[in-house]
Amino acid sequence: MNYKYLIVGQGIAGSLVAMECLKRGVSFLLIDDPSKSSASRIAAGIINPITGRKFVKTWMYEALEEAFIPGYKAFEDLLAKKYLVEKEIIRAFPKISDQNNWDARSLSEDAGPFMQSDYDFTDFENKVKLKIGYGKVHGYQLKVSELLEDFKNYLINKGAYREMSFDHAEVDLEENSITYRDIHADHIIFCEGYKAIENPYFNQLPFALAKGELLIVEIPGLESDKILKDGVFLVQLEKDIFWAGATYAWDDLNERPSEEKKVTLLKTLDKVLDIPYKVIDHKAGVRPSTDQRRPFMGSHPTHKYIHIFNGLGTKGSSLGPYWADHFMNYLEKDSALDKEVDISIFLG
Ligand SMILES: Cc1cc2nc3c(=O)[nH]c(=O)nc-3n(C[C@H](O)[C@H](O)[C@H](O)COP(=O)(O)OP(=O)(O)OC[C@H]3O[C@@H](n4cnc5c(N)ncnc54)[C@H](O)[C@@H]3O)c2cc1C
Repeated sequence: MNYKYLIVGQGIAGSLVAMECLKRGVSFLLIDDPSKSSASRIAAGIINPITGRKFVKTWMYEALEEAFIPGYKAFEDLLAKKYLVEKEIIRAFPKISDQNNWDARSLSEDAGPFMQSDYDFTDFENKVKLKIGYGKVHGYQLKVSELLEDFKNYLINKGAYREMSFDHAEVDLEENSITYRDIHADHIIFCEGYKAIENPYFNQLPFALAKGELLIVEIPGLESDKILKDGVFLVQLEKDIFWAGATYAWDDLNERPSEEKKVTLLKTLDKVLDIPYKVIDHKAGVRPSTDQRRPFMGSHPTHKYIHIFNGLGTKGSSLGPYWADHFMNYLEKDSALDKEVDISIFLG
């Protein structure tokens, strides 16, 4: 079978690249091995304009938002389901210094407009342990795993998806194209998440992978359409069921949940919740983060038709749509890649 693009990996990165192919009417085949780990499938899909202890505005947030709203609307129109939901994020301040930082940052020109001090705490009253103060940010939640599952089924029906493990050793490089088993493509785009470190064409890129773990907990009586950030993020998935996470670790890079991080999460939850809860699942994954916290995209220096779209790090849901469009403009319209994300500086 002949395709313009062979895309490897159906996390949020590969799915967004496939969507860009659909929009542009170019042929593609997406392959994925669901037995491998996918950070996207365990992510909460939180999009938070103000992050970290120092309340920093997410890099390029306005441009990202301008891209992710129509970007996910395209999936919603195609699959007739809502995936991107507006959410208030309530941030707890355990220390007076956090409250002071928040107040100071609220006055800043860049972050201030996204930070509010009026919040509705009714959902959490008498259910969580009160902290010194709270602030509010207008954010979003992307229902990532639902979107990926529905999109996969759509692509299967179109004959544009195959479930298989890609073996780099079996790629047949031709003058201007590649052959992989019975698949012939003009280009190959790798969207393998953290498994990129095993990709012989791109394994020298400076990834700074970060393992993350989370708990799925049952909290009867806690009902909220808001996201609470109090040490961990608490996000309601369905009635009584919440996503609680996530941890960070830069060693021990595998997809296995660890007892150590479970204990860390439980200790944090004990500091947050004033009502009983029960752990019903514990998951782990590896974020494809990069040294400079910028996505990675571009082409192999020798094999010009071998490309990568990766490095979405901790923010796949917000970064993905803007940069997938940028990347596909590079491939389809020959437009230059932004220097901040172009991998050519690393590959020489
Ligand atoms: C615990 C946790 C919580 C997170 N929470 C959030 C959040 O709230 N908001 C947010 O924006 N981001 C969050 N992230 C980050 C987000 O998940 C990532 O930015 C994003 O998922 C990266 O997507 P990706 O498609 O590059 O990688 P992945 O989702 O890992 O997808 C890679 C895909 O490639 C496939 N693959 C790899 N190798 C092969 C091969 N050889 N053959 C076939 N298939 C292959 C894998 O099966 C997988 O499906 C979180 C991450 C973690 C770990």
